[in-house]
Amino acid sequence: MDVVDRFFNALKGKEVDRPPVTCANQTATVEQMEKVGVFWPEAHKDAEKMAVLAAQAWEQLGLEVVGVPFCQTVEAEVLGCEIKWSDKKDAIPSVPFEGYASPDDVTVPENLLEQGRIPVVFKALEILREKYGEQVPIMGHVNGPFSLASHLTDPSKMMKLILTKPDVVPEFCRISVDVISEYANAMYDHGADVVVIEDMIASVDLLGPKFYEDFSFPFEKELASRLKGPSILHICGNATSVLDNMIATGSDGISIDSKVDASLAVEKSRGKCAVLGNVDALVLLNGTVDEIQKETMKSIEANVDLVAPACAISPLNSNKNIKAMVDTVVEYGGK
Ligand SMILES: [Zn+2]
Repeated sequence: MDVVDRFFNALKGKEVDRPPVTCANQTATVEQMEKVGVFWPEAHKDAEKMAVLAAQAWEQLGLEVVGVPFCQTVEAEVLGCEIKWSDKKDAIPSVPFEGYASPDDVTVPENLLEQGRIPVVFKALEILREKYGEQVPIMGHVNGPFSLASHLTDPSKMMKLILTKPDVVPEFCRISVDVISEYANAMYDHGADVVVIEDMIASVDLLGPKFYEDFSFPFEKELASRLKGPSILHICGNATSVLDNMIATGSDGISIDSKVDASLAVEKSRGKCAVLGNVDALVLLNGTVDEIQKETMKSIEANVDLVAPACAISPLNSNKNIKAMVDTVVEYGGK
């Protein structure tokens, strides 16, 4: 079966010969960088390098996806947040920004899609579309609204803001939905087949189910409803208590962490959306081939629709370990 067809059949709940083996988050590693001679931080900023490095997920590992960008800082940067770059090739840029005190302080630039690294991401998508569009799904990664809102306020201050000025938080989230939806919709125009809403900071481990429901869920739902193409929602940590909400966002797929009960997620999602996951990223990083095989079999046996790492792949992950996951799905996924 064609890799692209298998991916979208699985995402839409149609018949497949085996689940796709894919990744909803970043896939680049130092080993891939060394093999292809393209490194961070340059590949975060240069479209050609970004595309080449993203393609290694498919070229070197056989993961059935290529996706950009690698970091969660593109949207924050265009909204004026300071970005901290590292010269280390395993370092993802961070946002050491002290935060806007008020939503009124945030300026959304007029030509949003021409700002910062947004054109770099678009160009990388075009290159990937051109070279790989027939072979493998092309994926765009965007922030979830709560995650971008947290960059705007500074994540360390977000919880205090929820407790002291709860009325202000939705205002930051609304700005975020506007920015992300414009950016994500343009990703489809530039070649993305699917967009992943990575709401990493909306982890229920940090927020708890009540605050997730009040401050994150409504904006994820709003964002998913505004997207003109297929979307996947990724939340980090143990989201078992908010699975119904994740499904109710209307995303085509939900990407779950290893702490989530995958069988329960599959049961709840049936007929509503696909489930991606949830091979423990730490086992993938540190485990033996045998341990990774067992971990991957757990996801296969839970009947997830698409087998994928539970979260972003560590830049220090070995090719051998990721291939162990891929090989397990290829060999046993259809049995
Ligand atoms: Zn995650």
